[in-house]
Amino acid sequence: MSTPDAIPVPPLNLVASFEQVRDEILAEMQEVAASGHYVLGPKVAAFEKALAEYCGVKHALGLSSGTDALLVAMMALGIGRDDEVIVPAFTFFATAGCVARLGARPVFCDIDPKTFNIDVKQLEELITLRTKAVIPVHLYGQMADLRPIFQAVNRHGIALIEDAAQAIGAVEPEPHRGKAGALGTFGCLSFYPTKNLGAMGEAGALLTNSDKLHDLATKLRLHGETSRYHHARIGGNFKIDALQAAILSVKLRHLDGWIEQRRARAAGYTERITAAGLAPDLVQPPAELHGRHVYHQYVIRAQRRDELAEFLRGRGIGAGVYYPVPLHMQECFAYLGGREGDFPHSERAAREVLGLPIYPELTDPQQGAVVAALATFYARRRATNA
Ligand SMILES: *Cc1c(COP(=O)(O)O)cnc(C)c1O
Repeated sequence: MSTPDAIPVPPLNLVASFEQVRDEILAEMQEVAASGHYVLGPKVAAFEKALAEYCGVKHALGLSSGTDALLVAMMALGIGRDDEVIVPAFTFFATAGCVARLGARPVFCDIDPKTFNIDVKQLEELITLRTKAVIPVHLYGQMADLRPIFQAVNRHGIALIEDAAQAIGAVEPEPHRGKAGALGTFGCLSFYPTKNLGAMGEAGALLTNSDKLHDLATKLRLHGETSRYHHARIGGNFKIDALQAAILSVKLRHLDGWIEQRRARAAGYTERITAAGLAPDLVQPPAELHGRHVYHQYVIRAQRRDELAEFLRGRGIGAGVYYPVPLHMQECFAYLGGREGDFPHSERAAREVLGLPIYPELTDPQQGAVVAALATFYARRRATNA
């Protein structure tokens, strides 16, 4: 029953994305190579300025990764032993891993099943006298609803750190229209190659509107140096390469165009899935419920998810599960005493979510092939169940 339109659809196409901006990037690389300035320096300063402008925030600080952005944010806030930080139970590992690395306690919170973002109601119930920060994650590229979270954190005098690693360019709904990462005490961005704005190596950035926190984070990036070889605080080596900053400056100019292409691909998937009669019983397409979704991932909920993922991969379609294990069930967090059943929405998401290939270069026939494969899978299931 295999269909003739089974064409390969890789999970990503980073080389095609490079080809679009090849000349601009190679020129920048040559310039950096000839400058002898390989870490921080003018290319980094220029990127930081452009990034802050794009995100609508006072300061952007280039860092070694998105993980390090989370780490530096919490170090700047003095988070450590005996402190609690609230994070979603369903997110990429780094969000919680950074809390634990600083000796603080990650406190997990369930998600809203419609948006996959942190459940604000439960979050409020989790705040204690030890809570130092809350880290909402703008998962898959859709912003969490920050306004009620602001009210909660402001009442308790705690910090809000946005994990905007998947959401650069996402915008809050009217009337606020703030951009992802620009609203919290800190916003953390990742430029890992697969992210919507991807470097050609590791990089990240920290956003803030506070002069004081920006200054502190800048020092922490250089081992907490206040003047050459004098250290007031313990920081780390969190510097960004000039090459990555130069590449990112080029790509930043194309980002909004790429986001529009991602949004068009997402709409295309939803249309095709609906037209094929798969929604909402077998497949639930993602919903854009809170402002401008940048579709870092196009994540469906699917019946028989694991079988489906295997079937798609067997046809050369790069479907990915983000994420199969909620954080309270991770082995390394067993000491926190998490149990199955603690966070039902996170657990259900971990069983049902499936990311379909999405990137600006994805073609119409490729999208057609993905949805045809979904239809074939469920038609076969029906036939064998009948
Ligand atoms: C990618 C990602 C990070 C970490 O970024 P790196 O640059 O890979 O260190 C953190 N949080 C989320 C939600 C991410 O998707």
